[in-house]
Amino acid sequence: MKFATLAVHAGNAPDPAYGAVMPPIYATSTYVQRAPAEPMVEGYDYSRAANPTRSALQENLAALEGAKHGFAFSSGLAATHALLSQMRPGDHVVCGNDLYGGTFRMFRSAFEPFGIEFSVVDTTDLKALEQALAKPTRLLWLETPTNPLLRITDLEAAAALAHAAGALVACDNTFASSYLQQPLTLGCDVVMHSATKYLGGHSDVVLGALCTNDDALAEKLGFQQLSVGAVPGPFDCFLVLRGTKTLPLRMEAHCRNARRIAGFLADHSRVASVFYPGLPDHPGHDIAARQMRDFGGMLSFVLKASVEEAKQLTTRTKIFALAESLGGVESLIEHPPSMTHASIPAEQRRAAGLDDGLIRLSVGIEDIDDLLGDLDQALAG
Ligand SMILES: *Cc1c(COP(=O)(O)O)cnc(C)c1O
Repeated sequence: MKFATLAVHAGNAPDPAYGAVMPPIYATSTYVQRAPAEPMVEGYDYSRAANPTRSALQENLAALEGAKHGFAFSSGLAATHALLSQMRPGDHVVCGNDLYGGTFRMFRSAFEPFGIEFSVVDTTDLKALEQALAKPTRLLWLETPTNPLLRITDLEAAAALAHAAGALVACDNTFASSYLQQPLTLGCDVVMHSATKYLGGHSDVVLGALCTNDDALAEKLGFQQLSVGAVPGPFDCFLVLRGTKTLPLRMEAHCRNARRIAGFLADHSRVASVFYPGLPDHPGHDIAARQMRDFGGMLSFVLKASVEEAKQLTTRTKIFALAESLGGVESLIEHPPSMTHASIPAEQRRAAGLDDGLIRLSVGIEDIDDLLGDLDQALAG
């Protein structure tokens, strides 16, 4: 089956009790058993271990990544934590230098103190990546496109280098979504999602996921859900399951609008630079064109003006709401250095090429004329 069909149907078998088209929200913590340790349906004895609404979502998310196994967690960071928890003291992890800020913060605060060593490299530079992998490595953690600079890592080439070094390869696929990019088909071993963003798509839920074809790892991740317990509730699972049905339609609209806005900003006299992989002069454009279906709904830009003026601009838009997060149907604007990326030290931010005046847009699915008009009036102010 093709993607749009899977998005609607995978995991969504009609409910056997009443034939409901949409999987019910099984709001239950426990299940009646026929005899001790004999649940009515195998595996369903307590909702931390398994819940039918969560199972439906997990099946759907796995299908969208072309994976055998899917696991839902209470947030994107909880999903990342579940994977990193497979590391042991002394293990070496290589990760990109332009990751989601919360991912960095977790590596530093939750895993480094337990003796896991991180090498931070520019994964768009394959030579630098190969050098970092020269030291025995358990895991390569990738994110592409990155947040907020939309840098592109060549997943096929990076995964090949990591596999030659004996490392597992994980990719945070939040920015692209499963519709635009399928890391497992490009050689990665595990895909992570903040389903809070495009998969949910309506800014109404926090949820995370891991997908893999690796049976041994899947076993461990399932045990992680049961033994650590960072699982989402059935209503949250229902919301994401509802969201993924329209993922292809929404992503097409996000991409179409973002492409127009990137062009508009690139031509605007007050704009110094635009970061969008769909622009031909973006350094990752060719790789993105190869490994992604389209270029996504996220972009960043820098004004030919002071940092103060950049911050003021974020308060002048009327349709773009000033807010963190991304991937919802509504357009958002933010200032990463003081908001989403404030937890990264200024020196490190600048070294990674993140300008103090950078503005990030999550382009929604509203009418493009209204969005362009809104940015035009904000830039004129
Ligand atoms: C939001 C985000 C996360 C964290 O996910 P939560 O659902 O907020 O825990 C991880 N990676 C990226 C790229 C994100 O945008």
